[in-house]
Amino acid sequence: MKVLVIGGGAREHALCRSLSQDPAVTELHCAPGNAGTAQVATVHPVDQLDGAQVAALAVRLGADLVVVGPEAPLVAGVADAVRAAGVPVFGPSAAAAELEGSKAFAKDVMAAAGVPTARSYVCTTAAEAAEALDAFGAPYVVKDDGLAAGKGVVVTSDREAALAHAAACERVVIEEYLDGPEVSLFAITDGTTVVPLQPAQDFKRALDGDEGPNTGGMGAYSPLPWAPEGLVEEVLETVLQPTVDELRRRGTEFSGLLYAGLALTSRGTRVIEFNARFGDPETQVVLARLRTPLAGVLLASATGTLDQLEPLRWDEGAAVTVVVASEGYPADPRTGDPIEGLAEAEADGTAFVLHAGTKADEDGRVLSAGGRVLSVTATGADLAEARERAYAAVDRISLKGGQHRTDIALKAATA
Ligand code: AMP
Repeated sequence: MKVLVIGGGAREHALCRSLSQDPAVTELHCAPGNAGTAQVATVHPVDQLDGAQVAALAVRLGADLVVVGPEAPLVAGVADAVRAAGVPVFGPSAAAAELEGSKAFAKDVMAAAGVPTARSYVCTTAAEAAEALDAFGAPYVVKDDGLAAGKGVVVTSDREAALAHAAACERVVIEEYLDGPEVSLFAITDGTTVVPLQPAQDFKRALDGDEGPNTGGMGAYSPLPWAPEGLVEEVLETVLQPTVDELRRRGTEFSGLLYAGLALTSRGTRVIEFNARFGDPETQVVLARLRTPLAGVLLASATGTLDQLEPLRWDEGAAVTVVVASEGYPADPRTGDPIEGLAEAEADGTAFVLHAGTKADEDGRVLSAGGRVLSVTATGADLAEARERAYAAVDRISLKGGQHRTDIALKAATA
């Protein structure tokens, strides 16, 4: 099978790594990729938002499967363009990707499907925003309606800051605050059948102790030893399947990866958000534990044959990933610095380094090229061992001004 992965972050490096280990994959390509995906795939310079370019590349390569990683190309219709060119694609149409592209659309689908989520108002004026904030009270939750790479959400008890965020966005969703721990649950779907993956938890805030600004994610782990038994089955029944069924009923069939961000509140499980693609950095830990070869699973989604797939097999152990970000991330990331110690980090075979924002210079040195630079991942018999290995690997890497959280999976590993 010839596979082309679209995207250039640590999620795509994780996808490429798993696909490269699948014996069914004879050729692996990635576009635009990064310095890490270049180690396991042939990289191609394309504009990943340009459906015609991506489709032409897929046809030229004779790809049997295209996997679209990030949300922006999905919302831009890249999967539609590839599908129209006759190539099977893992990833939803632009219309179905609105589940992530518009928070208001997602709320509408959830309401119609009876999916439990925070009560909310869509607001376009300052007066509407003020009224909605006062209806719910503090802490306030204000979300940019459009795509914002996980950074469009402000949760604050400061009413002025909440109003200022609303004023800075064209359209916002203001919703009730959900208490309780968060869980990320991914599912693969072909529009009808839904196959949930293992749950994971990510760390959105920049600093230890969940302090600092929201980011794209600073680390993740799986499994969740503290999660209630039967959680996956409950979410499949009350969230994932009804959402997929509702989208099909509307004629916007959703195939690809449906990601439910959940809050386990004192009043029950609630959806915080949907994403239309693998989450970053949870993908790094979920795929590290998946034993079933990946390409066949993604192809079954792309070809509508998930009902024939054998049950997925999982590593009984644990996985932890720690994101190394550049100085100034998330507000003003500094790029262009050399990264040392990458080989040393992987030397003892217990950890692996996934590249996020990196590029190779003419001399083959790896330079930082984005806010999140690396996703250092390890597996182990349990979370404590996986954590220890991931942090030992992080300690062998040097990046000027580089920052990482020191408490990824700490609470869960010591509970
Ligand atoms: P989102 O982009 O919708 O996932 O939001 C980013 C982060 O903001 C989430 O992971 C939560 O930590 C937080 N958040 C979003 N919505 C709520 C809510 N209704 N109540 C509490 N926290 C929230």
